[in-house]
Amino acid sequence: MTHVVIGAGLSGLVAAVELASQGREVLVLEASGALGGRAQTHRSEGFALNLGPHALYPGAERQLAELGVNVTGGVPKRGLTMEVGDRIAPLPGDAVTLLGNGALGWNDKLRVGWLLGRLGWIDADPLDRVTVGEWLDAMGLQGTAKDVALAVVRISTYVNASDRMSAGVAIRQIRGALDGVRYLDGGWATIVDGLLERARELGVVVRSRAKVERLEVEAGRVVGVMLRDGERIATEGVVLTLSPKASVRLLGEHARPSLATFAADSVAVRAACLDVALRRLPRRHPSLILGTNEPTYVSIHSNVAALAPTDGGVIHVARYLAPDERVDGATRAQLEGYLDRSQPGWRDEVEEVRWSPAMTVMHAIPEARDGGLAGRPTVASAGPTNLALAGDWVGPEGLLADACVTSARAAARWIARGDREAQGVTYRSSSKVCGPDSESLSSTT
Ligand SMILES: Cc1cc2nc3c(=O)[nH]c(=O)nc-3n(C[C@H](O)[C@H](O)[C@H](O)COP(=O)(O)OP(=O)(O)OC[C@H]3O[C@@H](n4cnc5c(N)ncnc54)[C@H](O)[C@@H]3O)c2cc1C
Repeated sequence: MTHVVIGAGLSGLVAAVELASQGREVLVLEASGALGGRAQTHRSEGFALNLGPHALYPGAERQLAELGVNVTGGVPKRGLTMEVGDRIAPLPGDAVTLLGNGALGWNDKLRVGWLLGRLGWIDADPLDRVTVGEWLDAMGLQGTAKDVALAVVRISTYVNASDRMSAGVAIRQIRGALDGVRYLDGGWATIVDGLLERARELGVVVRSRAKVERLEVEAGRVVGVMLRDGERIATEGVVLTLSPKASVRLLGEHARPSLATFAADSVAVRAACLDVALRRLPRRHPSLILGTNEPTYVSIHSNVAALAPTDGGVIHVARYLAPDERVDGATRAQLEGYLDRSQPGWRDEVEEVRWSPAMTVMHAIPEARDGGLAGRPTVASAGPTNLALAGDWVGPEGLLADACVTSARAAARWIARGDREAQGVTYRSSSKVCGPDSESLSSTT
């Protein structure tokens, strides 16, 4: 019988490939007309425009390669700057960029240098329950030095909530970023294409415009998936890759209370994004301007990845939104103002502009109060015994797309293990929402 994967974003497609490679018959159901979810890229006239600035971290790249999906692209290393006051200065990454930095006073240089030096070896585990703000205060960082540190946290994690975000999670993520993130040739759609190709080779069926409206649950197992048009699909097991709130809505009375609580309490990470394709790029440098006075980001992704024709360029401009921040016309004007200053004449060269005032980047901030990633629901914590969760808010490993890939693979393995052991195994339900994904199955002889 068919296994159903709900959602055809990165998480759903990875789960489908992983399940199918274990010999399962898999059907992917996607509500919208397009596949890829937030990893879609609009491609036209030689330009490739992702949905907001996307950089692939080494962990996700490694795991995708294991699934047979190899991507190419470039690592942004040159022309990385930050805005301090009204000055543009090199982003401190080593002794040269730090000591020669005209925007930082000697005290700030010492403090930032001390922090950079510690990042490589500091024990992040005890800091999982400490907020980024508390950690920086304890390190004695103030003023400009603190602003620079917060900007580095934002660019690595997308989170603009230093009073909530776990410092341990931030430190590990910054280390991953320092290993080199990649902008992808052709955009993130190349990941989606690669996964779809693998899925089709393995016999996976993918249906778009197939919105799942309800799950039919009997004796603690999902037995049917109901589509909006009334169709019923019988199923052996389900991987659910929606947001926490949408997952709880779909599960209804069958959702574990702890999952419902997480969905109600978690705070999404959002960004306002201005994505711009220019026929001619007025200036190629600086490649990156990271805001330290304001939570902003401007980056010419086409400087290191094949995303535009020779003279053209693709620039992503973004504002990392605080949890309750409202977006209005002033936000867009602010982001356009950055382009007016760094790319004079850009308005005459526009091939495509996309304004997304509040994109959900990640469904839940990893909060210090919950112990960081350990506070996220596990793949096995939804409720029904043959339904697994996956997404950027699931599981104790990884952030952003890394969390999607890791949780999707874990979800598929958990479902497959459940199938294999169905005859001789009972499910021992745990009331705990967190913990290792292996907690839920045990043999009974
Ligand atoms: C602006 C922005 C920048 C980002 N930058 C980075 C970055 O630099 N690095 C990084 O690693 N990650 C980044 N991310 C995060 C990354 O894009 C996401 O974590 C990832 O794409 C999420 O994949 P997903 O499959 O879990 O969810 P989604 O992509 O949201 O997919 C869920 C799918 O489910 C479908 N669906 C919803 N309801 C139903 C239903 N009832 N029935 C059937 N289908 C349904 C949706 O249409 C969607 O296609 C960024 C995200 C954004 C928005």
